[in-house]
Amino acid sequence: MEKEDIERIRGEFPILSREVAGRPMVYLDNTATSQTPGRVVSEIERIYTHEKANVHRGVHTLSQEMTDLQEHTRETIRGYINASGVDEVIFTRGTTEGINLVASSFGSRFKSGDEVILTVMEHHANIVPWQLLRDRTGIVLRVVDINERGELDLEQYRSLFNERTVMASFCHVSNVLGTVNPVKEMTAYAHAQGVPVLIDGAQASPHMLIDVADIDCDFYVFSAHKMYGPTGIGVLYGKRRWLEEMPPYQGGGEMIAKVTFEHTTYAELPFKFEAGTPDFVGIAAFAKAIEFIREVGMERIAAHEHELMEYTQKRMLEIPGLRIFGTAPGKSAVISFLVGDIHPYDLGMLLDKQGVEVRTGHHCAMPLMDRLGIPGTVRASFAVYNTREEADAFINALTRATAILS
Ligand code: PMP
Repeated sequence: MEKEDIERIRGEFPILSREVAGRPMVYLDNTATSQTPGRVVSEIERIYTHEKANVHRGVHTLSQEMTDLQEHTRETIRGYINASGVDEVIFTRGTTEGINLVASSFGSRFKSGDEVILTVMEHHANIVPWQLLRDRTGIVLRVVDINERGELDLEQYRSLFNERTVMASFCHVSNVLGTVNPVKEMTAYAHAQGVPVLIDGAQASPHMLIDVADIDCDFYVFSAHKMYGPTGIGVLYGKRRWLEEMPPYQGGGEMIAKVTFEHTTYAELPFKFEAGTPDFVGIAAFAKAIEFIREVGMERIAAHEHELMEYTQKRMLEIPGLRIFGTAPGKSAVISFLVGDIHPYDLGMLLDKQGVEVRTGHHCAMPLMDRLGIPGTVRASFAVYNTREEADAFINALTRATAILS
């Protein structure tokens, strides 16, 4: 992307001009959450100032306008991920809630001894809900390993399927390694064995176009806050056939057709899975984040981030003792690393003192850290608004921090 384009994009993010520790901030924690463009913030402010009324409840004008705004986002997301209908797009609190919903509701059909396939690179959000289900039902979790580049062992993946397998659940992109998994092929293989698939798209949706029809997955989950959108909102895409069969996840207002003390019938999709008042303001404003992504263009976003990541990685490798975890070809714009035996927290703190915001620790992937035999990493991750100057500032800060700590 041209320098002027990046500057124009940065202009939409006032937070990027703030300082940390008396220096221009370099925000490289985009994997945890990305920053939010002004148009999303303005939309939230506009709604609180002029539109706020509860959705799907009233005949009055405000309620109808608010409902239209929320449902406009649902249609925007439907088109964006190529779902076949808006009834397949369920608003959640985020990726975590989406996976919990599927594990709890779809998982209610599983029995003791049934097997669910996960991978060692999963975020805790795609591990713990299945463990909770295991505690309730006695299912068995099977785990796919990785190779030295941080790619899934696909031979092992295929070998784990047997007549007891009832589900495969894996991330599209690893939040630590950046590995982009071949989700379409993995889904096709699972389907050939009659096994449905859930994909954790939390780290894919900010960096690539998602086509759920093309992938043919049964469930796909992601969070708005990593996609330049508001916090506290996510999407669960599910195939209509499953969603219709599944019992509700939570009970309450909005998800019912008729309630008596003897018997309750449920609302149609997608409302069956949307009990209570949603974050309708955030949902409405999420459409502006999608508009931003579309305007810049996902291909351009991905190309820019990739180029920046490659450049940074190349320069980082000049630092003696630096090891990168996750070197799969075509990986996403995430760099997890350690330098010698310096503790990641120490590096993170010294980087922060120089204005560079990176994440340190286990990244909610403790089983992966165990597999790699390390306590944690430092992780730098990129978004569309990051620049080569910021990459250089990061490298300089890292070189200085490493010199101090070595
Ligand atoms: N899965 C992956 C791969 C993630 O990176 C994250 C966020 N770090 C999550 C799930 C959880 O997302 P959220 O906290 O938005 O629910």
